[in-house]
Amino acid sequence: MSPEERATLGQILRDRRALLIEAGDVPFEQTRAGATQAGVDDDQQPHIEMSQALASNRNRVRGQELQLIDEALLRLKTDPEMFGHCEVCEEPIAAQRLLAMPHARMCVRCQSKVEDPVRRARRKITDYV
Ligand SMILES: [Zn+2]
Repeated sequence: MSPEERATLGQILRDRRALLIEAGDVPFEQTRAGATQAGVDDDQQPHIEMSQALASNRNRVRGQELQLIDEALLRLKTDPEMFGHCEVCEEPIAAQRLLAMPHARMCVRCQSKVEDPVRRARRKITDYV
């Protein structure tokens, strides 16, 4: 990867980071009349709980992305030669993948190997919510 390509990816990471921070936490839906108090409509309660779970999930995902971006910026600074290489097989990660996801640590092949069990776990959480 050329220094110019690294600079471009670093810029994408910093822009994305600024955007995520600017977006702020997704506010939990505050109920009309207060959800936590007694007397909430029984029909409304599941909806409120679902909205809060979704907001909390979005905040968590955003926090995780911010952390991945910070880690990527650190790698870019401390180990620029290895940036953009897969951490598992050490092959260069496809440029298209890096442009879409500059914080990617693995190539598509290695990522799909580790991600399948994660996806299954997430599906369970979604079912639960
Ligand atoms: Zn790989």
